[in-house]
Amino acid sequence: MIKHINVKSSVRTEFIDITGKVREALQKTGITSGICCLFVPHTTAGITINEGADPSVQRDIQTMLNRLVPFDGDYHHSEGNSEAHIKSTLTGTSQNILIDEGRLVLGRWQSIFFCEFDGPRQRRVGMKIISGG
Ligand code: ZN
Repeated sequence: MIKHINVKSSVRTEFIDITGKVREALQKTGITSGICCLFVPHTTAGITINEGADPSVQRDIQTMLNRLVPFDGDYHHSEGNSEAHIKSTLTGTSQNILIDEGRLVLGRWQSIFFCEFDGPRQRRVGMKIISGG
């Protein structure tokens, strides 16, 4: 069964730390060992794992993504959000995290971020736990 984690973005581009929500959803399953698969079913959003302790890291990543893929460019897509589609491809739309002893195996400084590139919107992240190991 797939669980869904709801995420509400409030601006056009932002990284939203969903680590707590993922932990909470994992705990409810009672599964203590396996893999947690996270999937973003959107074409203008993504998911990444990076430093959660210092918010300036996320800001730097977003600044560089905006520099690499400017909002205005020689894009053909008529919807006007090509840069959001491109950023989604750059970050990717899935992450797999190991589970051991009932906990997500993340590095000390790592957090899971939902990456909004075309907000504000109501979004969701699909979560499937593969038990075993
Ligand atoms: Zn589009």
